[in-house]
Amino acid sequence: MVEAVVVRCDRCGAHVAGLRSPEFTSGFYDMSAEPWSRYAEEGEQTVCDSCIQDDPRYQADYVPSVRNEDTPEAIEARHAREEGRRKLERERIAAARARWLKEHGSDT
Ligand SMILES: [Zn+2]
Repeated sequence: MVEAVVVRCDRCGAHVAGLRSPEFTSGFYDMSAEPWSRYAEEGEQTVCDSCIQDDPRYQADYVPSVRNEDTPEAIEARHAREEGRRKLERERIAAARARWLKEHGSDT
C-alpha cells in the first residue's frame, strides 16, 4: 500500500509531502534503513530529497558528473536549507543544555 505522507526533514526542518510504502519512499529518504542509513547523521529518521542531494557522500556515490547547480534559485534554496540546519542544531544544543542543567544543577 502506498500512503501519502507529510514528513519533517530531520536535517533542515522543512515539511515535505511524499509517498511511503513498505518498498520505497518518494520525496524524502528513510534514514533508518539501508542504503540511506549510511548517509544519516545521528538521530535522523527522515531527510528530504534536497538535503540528501546536497550531501557530499551521496554525491560521491550517486552523482556521476559535476552538476551545474549554481543558478540563483539553486543557491537560494541551498541557503534556506543551511539556515534550517543551523536552526535545528541550535534547538538540539539548547535541549541538550537544558537536560544537562536539569541533571547537574546550575553551576552559578
Ligand atoms: Zn531537508
